[in-house]
Amino acid sequence: MKKIFVNGYGTIGTRIIAFIKDDPEVEIVGVGKYSPDEKVNHAISHGLDVYVSEQKLDDFKDYKIAGSIESALDKSDLVIDASPGGHGFLNKKNLYEPKGIIAIYQGGETVYGEKAVSDLLFNSRANYVEAFGKKHVMQGSCNVTGMGRILQPLKEKYAEQLVRFDVTLIRRWVDIEQTDKQVKDTIEMTEHPHHGDDVKAYMGKETPLFLRAIKVPTRQMHLHIMDIRFKDTAPNPSEIHELFTNENGVATLWTAKGTKDVRDFADTMKFSFKDTNMIHIHANMTTTLGDTIQMMYSDDQTGIVIPENHMLLQAMLFQKSYEEALKHTESLFHMKEKKTKLEEHFAKKD
Ligand code: NAD
Repeated sequence: MKKIFVNGYGTIGTRIIAFIKDDPEVEIVGVGKYSPDEKVNHAISHGLDVYVSEQKLDDFKDYKIAGSIESALDKSDLVIDASPGGHGFLNKKNLYEPKGIIAIYQGGETVYGEKAVSDLLFNSRANYVEAFGKKHVMQGSCNVTGMGRILQPLKEKYAEQLVRFDVTLIRRWVDIEQTDKQVKDTIEMTEHPHHGDDVKAYMGKETPLFLRAIKVPTRQMHLHIMDIRFKDTAPNPSEIHELFTNENGVATLWTAKGTKDVRDFADTMKFSFKDTNMIHIHANMTTTLGDTIQMMYSDDQTGIVIPENHMLLQAMLFQKSYEEALKHTESLFHMKEKKTKLEEHFAKKD
């Protein structure tokens, strides 16, 4: 059985471990913690071994620590790095490369320039098999992952018919459980957003994607406003919705008034962490205007990358076929069931 260590126990690390601990094909060695806070006991109470940096062992003397992160890595086959953006690169240089361990990094890292953690940015829908045999791979961020779920099916169906994609990302301020962080009453402009280049890393650098981003005071998901321009007359909205009927991790909703409706429904249905793990096309907002389709979809910022990490670890550790990996991920995440529930609840009213 392959052994996995999760380094970082924040928003993403907590979720990754909550799902993959139920995976019978892997064993969790434990989790890496960096601050001596209540989440240490949270992890222990969930049956996890907690490891801390060798230099920080003293800071954790009031807790039942299993050992050093360095020793945990020695026992592991793969590490999922879930550290704050930029720390993944440092961890790679200081820990993972010296120990020769294979690693998955999150969306706050980069595949460009001196601080690149990998030459591969993963999006299971677009480049699953490219992760075979790789030692270091970066999982795209939530926005970057969400865009692939729309762009890849469009590219496969319409290919040369597509002229350009113009996207405005409306990004949430902070996550729901980040209660220590204030939501600022402002609309912040994002200079040089990384998301467009990240998408091009897996869709191809020639992709005619033009992107801008702002951050707004909400904790309730991201919203992408996308205009898709075609060479000739654009397809009608129902043809576009039809394209996503069988897409994994894409729900088509008609009656959600806003992103919080979706999150609240996830809460009512007791989806883990109130996450849907997917994107939601707000079908009532899709319009065809001549050569352009206008659409909007919301992106579950915290949940969407978790099944992607699971797909990625299966590609890196087992080189499973895409279909087999998807089936196994589905057995842990129940995405189809969640999609059906969402689509039924927010169905079109006659
Ligand atoms: P977070 O701040 O909630 O958690 C990060 C955790 O890592 C904290 O517990 C912190 O103590 C710990 N840590 C500190 N230094 C570390 C180190 N050197 N090595 C390992 N862990 C360390 O952050 P997060 O939201 O979980 O984000 C983690 C990564 O996932 C980032 O790259 C982020 O961009 C990406 N991501 C976040 C979201 C989201 O919605 N929050 C979505 C997609 C991707």
